[in-house]
Amino acid sequence: MAKEMHEFQAETKQLLDLMVNSIYTNKEIFLRELISNASDAIDKVHFESLTNRELLEGDEDYEIYLVPDKDSHTLTISDNGIGMTKDEVIENIGTIAKSGTKAFLEKMKEAKEGGEVTDKDMIGQFGVGFYSAFMVAEKVTITTRKAGTKDAVRWESDGSGTFSIEPCEKEKRGTTITLDLKKEFYGDEAEEDFTETYRIERLVKKYSDYVRYPIKMDFVTEEKPKDKDGKVIEDAKPEKKVEVRTLNSMQPLWTKNKSDIKKEEYNEFYKNQFHEWEDPMEVFHTKAEGTVEYTALMYIPSKAPFNLYHTDFEPGMQLYSRHVFIMEKCKDLLPDYLRFIKGLVDSPDLSLNISRELLQQSRELKVIGKNLEKTVLKALEKMLDKDREKYEKFWAEFGKSLKIGIYNTIYMAGDAKEKLKDLVLFPSSKEEKLVTLKEYKERMPLSQKKIYYATGKDKTIIEALPQMELLREKGLEVLFCTDPVDEFAIEALHDYDGKEFQSIARGDLDLGDAESETAKKETEDIAKKNDDLIKDIKETLGDKVADVKVSQRLKTSAVCLVADEMGPSLSMEQTFADMDNPLFKAKRILELNPHHDLFGRLQKLHEAGKDSQDFKDYCDLLYTQALLIEGILPENPVDFANKVAKLMAK
Ligand code: ADP
Repeated sequence: MAKEMHEFQAETKQLLDLMVNSIYTNKEIFLRELISNASDAIDKVHFESLTNRELLEGDEDYEIYLVPDKDSHTLTISDNGIGMTKDEVIENIGTIAKSGTKAFLEKMKEAKEGGEVTDKDMIGQFGVGFYSAFMVAEKVTITTRKAGTKDAVRWESDGSGTFSIEPCEKEKRGTTITLDLKKEFYGDEAEEDFTETYRIERLVKKYSDYVRYPIKMDFVTEEKPKDKDGKVIEDAKPEKKVEVRTLNSMQPLWTKNKSDIKKEEYNEFYKNQFHEWEDPMEVFHTKAEGTVEYTALMYIPSKAPFNLYHTDFEPGMQLYSRHVFIMEKCKDLLPDYLRFIKGLVDSPDLSLNISRELLQQSRELKVIGKNLEKTVLKALEKMLDKDREKYEKFWAEFGKSLKIGIYNTIYMAGDAKEKLKDLVLFPSSKEEKLVTLKEYKERMPLSQKKIYYATGKDKTIIEALPQMELLREKGLEVLFCTDPVDEFAIEALHDYDGKEFQSIARGDLDLGDAESETAKKETEDIAKKNDDLIKDIKETLGDKVADVKVSQRLKTSAVCLVADEMGPSLSMEQTFADMDNPLFKAKRILELNPHHDLFGRLQKLHEAGKDSQDFKDYCDLLYTQALLIEGILPENPVDFANKVAKLMAK
């Protein structure tokens, strides 16, 4: 195999560009990123060696080795981990595998141009470990040999868009990364000198102290030799002495006493262990002794990862048994609605020697999972109660997870909705800030029987809905569902403490008061009198609508479209359609305001003849208007425009 040149994937190029020109000030963290990659690689080889000892080739002393070199202005990081094959190097280092990356990058770029986010935010949501090397290096060389194979490869790039790859020799398994440092980062004049052993030692202590494999470095000292009696020979030439030192303590943070751990330590550990760039929002450190003994360290990140709801997002906590790492992502520990939690569990009661599948289902793990779920939920309740501002920040990032959790109770056994119902927040017609269901219920007047909600893209759009008119007039509070998942969650909840939810755009809007009773009778009378008209409008619209009704909910608007009480709502239909699932159709009911001038006009046109073109056009226009109000485009916009034009010209 000769030397080959490759182009980075477009998205990778964009990220590299971001790194090379990064305004991210904390450039030193590149070392933490490369060390944690090395540590992961050792985890992997260790894990595989449990079933295939030969992989280790007799080299069982795991280590990460750092070599700062003042002469060549390089810093080298080596590990005897799993290493990579040529294909893996191309795949892992040249491309970003996460789906949705492109769309995300574009969105971020727009936000950046609008001044809403910085490079730091972008990097933060991504966690682009390896590429951070390009913040400090003008060239990066990787030599790597996969454990159990013979062919090593050398990868080289200056981060500008291409990389080369060629075969090479490598005696030890694993990966060696050499950074040719940019001139700001070596020598006495440098901003920061990463060829200085003491500087590297400090960085390792600061960022990587808990890495569970030794991080070693040579310390070179010059000493004059001693004679047989141990006395220094004064006129002899100094001799170089090389001493290998392990820089990190390797004591797992979670084994220390809570009171001895500083916040910064928790934060550094988090960033190191979980490849995060920003401090977490919340830390939970719990120990339990009882039927099952364990220590857990859990974090709520400060930002939701961009792919939290993509299928490629892998939730799960790390598992340890007596401080020995056993599994990277244990999925069944926490319920899916806590998928955003990062953390680890260390328990002597977990067995090292059973398969992953059996382990995930073990009784001990179930007990631990239940307890941890409780810990997190309790902490969230407390946060909501004591620090609303913080909770709202949490909600903005992860609220969707909890709502999906409630919705999923429809499919899955469990009582998630009971646990989560007091943690959900909604925008409301009564308050600027978000409200809880409890707050809503406490404010309900005695006569109000149901909790009202409305769906739409945002607050302004919902407030303008014709269906809001009556409720506003009566001063009734309406919860706003602005996220497609909101309505699904409400459906799943069914009621809150005995008060059922009622969409203002579905079924009959029964407000339950005396006034409404009178209005209801009045509407029924009008409907009876206009029986033929209603029937003929329905006939004209054909299968576009399931029904046409005289409306009780409209005050100033002429029409609105509502969905049947049963079955999906109009916005649910849209959501299903967006997910390429057009089978779920809402039963559309066109409601007409009998007090609007247009109703009189319809009556007149109808009297003139139900088969007249004008009557048919009016019916069609009314229906399309109602669609537009719901944010649904007409099937035939040209036809709609022509009909409006015809009418305007009259
Ligand atoms: P992340 O570590 O978040 O996956 P990186 O960009 O840091 O992202 O690394 C990309 C991938 O490259 C890793 O997932 C891993 O498969 C591979 N990799 C990086 N460094 C090493 C290493 N020292 N040894 C083996 N594989 C590595």
